[in-house]
Amino acid sequence: MKLHKDTVVIHEGYDDSKHHGSLAVPLYQTSTYSFDTALTGEKRFSGEESGNIYSRLGNPTVRVLEERITVLEKGEGSLAFGSGMAAVSSILVHLTKAGDHILCSRGIYGCTFGLLSIMEEKYGITHDLIRMMSEEEIEKAVKPETVCIYVETPINPTMELVDLHAVVAVAKRHGLRVVVDNTFTSPYLQNPLEIGADFVLHSATKYINGHGDVIAGLLVGNNKEEMERIRMSVQKDYGAIMSPFDAWLLIRGLKTLPVRMERHTFNAEKLIKYLKGKACVETIYYPFDEENPQYDIAKRQMSAGGGLISFTVKGGKAGAQRFMDSLSLIKIAVSLGDAETLIQHPATMTHSSVPEIERLQMGITDSLLRLSVGLEHADDLIADLEQAFAVLERDNVKA
Ligand SMILES: *Cc1c(COP(=O)(O)O)cnc(C)c1O
Repeated sequence: MKLHKDTVVIHEGYDDSKHHGSLAVPLYQTSTYSFDTALTGEKRFSGEESGNIYSRLGNPTVRVLEERITVLEKGEGSLAFGSGMAAVSSILVHLTKAGDHILCSRGIYGCTFGLLSIMEEKYGITHDLIRMMSEEEIEKAVKPETVCIYVETPINPTMELVDLHAVVAVAKRHGLRVVVDNTFTSPYLQNPLEIGADFVLHSATKYINGHGDVIAGLLVGNNKEEMERIRMSVQKDYGAIMSPFDAWLLIRGLKTLPVRMERHTFNAEKLIKYLKGKACVETIYYPFDEENPQYDIAKRQMSAGGGLISFTVKGGKAGAQRFMDSLSLIKIAVSLGDAETLIQHPATMTHSSVPEIERLQMGITDSLLRLSVGLEHADDLIADLEQAFAVLERDNVKA
C-alpha cells in the first residue's frame, strides 16, 4: 500500500511489535553491539550477514529516520549526518576528484560556498555560479570537466527559483549528476528526485526538525547500492554521523512536518497580503505570489509556497535595522523553519561575507529582510509587524 506523506512521517520504517510494543521509536543510545559468537562477528564484517556492528556504521534509531526520509523524498536510500554541511561535504567528496568542475546555482548557502573555495584551493576542483533560468543558460556553462550540477531552489534570500526540469534535461544530455539542497521547501513541498535529480540533501536543522533544538543533515539518493557505498566509505571514514539522540528528536519533529508546513504556508500567505498593503514595503519575494514572474516554475516543481518571505523596506540599512529592533514577538535570528517567527538582515548577517558587488547583483540590498514565518497566530504576527512599521513610518516622516 502506497501511503501518503502525512502517514509516512508517522509510521514508515518502524514495527513496534519488534520493540516490546513501544509506541515511540526507542532511543538506542549505544556505541557498539555485541555478537553472539565470533563467527557472527566475522560474518557481519565480511558483509555476509547484515546487522549492527558499531554506531558509526549504523544505529537502529538513526535507521528509522533514514527510512522515513527515503520514502518521503521518493528516493531509494538515505544517510543521516551530524549537520547539513556534513551532508553537503560528503556528497561533493563522493562525486568529485581533483581537476573536476561543479556547476552551481548563482546563490548557494554561505558555508557551501566556503567548502567549494577549500576544494578549489586544495584540490583544484573548480566551480561556477550561474543563473539557471533556461536550458540554454545552463548548457553554455557546462565544461568538459564538469561532473555535477549543484543547486538550491528557492535561492536564499531572494527566493529566486531554479527550473529543476531544465537542470535535469541538461544534466541527462551531458551525463552529469544533479544534487539539490532542498532545505528551503522541505520534502513536503518539493521532491527533486521525482523530477530526475540524483541526490537531495537537507539541513534537517530547519523544517524537518522544526523545533530549533538540533543541528543535523540528511542525504537521499535514487540508487540504493550507491548510497550504501557512500555509507561504507565517505560517511564511515570521514565520520560526520548523526547521534542517536538527535535522530530521536528528528523522528519526533518529523511527525508534524505536514501539519507544520501547511500552517507555515497559511501564515505566510496572510502576512504577504498584509505586507502588500504597507507603504513602507517596496518589494516582496515569495515563490507562490501570483505577481512573481517565476510563478509558473514554482507551480511546476513545488506544491505550495512554504514559510519564507523576503521583502525590502524603505529607509535602507538604517530603516531595516530600526524595523527589526522595533519587533518584539518576532525574534532577530538566523536559521529558519522553527515554530518561532525569525527575522534576519542578509546584507549584514547570512550574506555579510559576500562581496558587495556580487551581493547587489544577487538582489541582496541593504533594505532586504528575510522572514521565516513561524506557527504563531497570524494576527499576533501582523500586530507585531504593524507596530514596527509605525515606528519606521514615523522615522521616514522625520527624515
Ligand atoms: C542551514 C543550511 C545549510 C547548512 O546546514 P547546517 O545544518 O547548519 O549544517 C545548508 N543549506 C541550506 C539551504 C541551509 O539553510
